[in-house]
Amino acid sequence: MGKAYTRSSGGRSKHQYGLAIDVVPMVKGEPQWDNKNLWKKVGIIGEQLGLQWGGRWKSLYDPGHFEWTGGISGNQLANGSFPPIPKPEKYPCLNEDLEKLTQAWKAWEIEQSTLSRTRTEGSVAGMN
Ligand SMILES: [Zn+2]
Repeated sequence: MGKAYTRSSGGRSKHQYGLAIDVVPMVKGEPQWDNKNLWKKVGIIGEQLGLQWGGRWKSLYDPGHFEWTGGISGNQLANGSFPPIPKPEKYPCLNEDLEKLTQAWKAWEIEQSTLSRTRTEGSVAGMN
């Protein structure tokens, strides 16, 4: 979230259609924003899944961005077309991966809410 949210003008970002995600590789709990070799590995994995990788963009290098185009353009999307979504059978581990991802996400949310509560309590205590 430290990076610009979208490179596209209104109605053109794949994020608005649920067709894009932004990721950051983590090593020992630390985001690896500047690890180019690691970004390359992550990008190649995404491309093997058929996603377009923002790490290939010349105008705005965005290695954390992946999107599914399904062969249709941003204009077509804005005009109401939607690309076909691949069947999960094509990705045998998808459900397993989604389960792991959901668990990691929940753990992260709990951690974040604990952190923000600690910060809030800290600042309140500091005001007294
Ligand atoms: Zn993005």
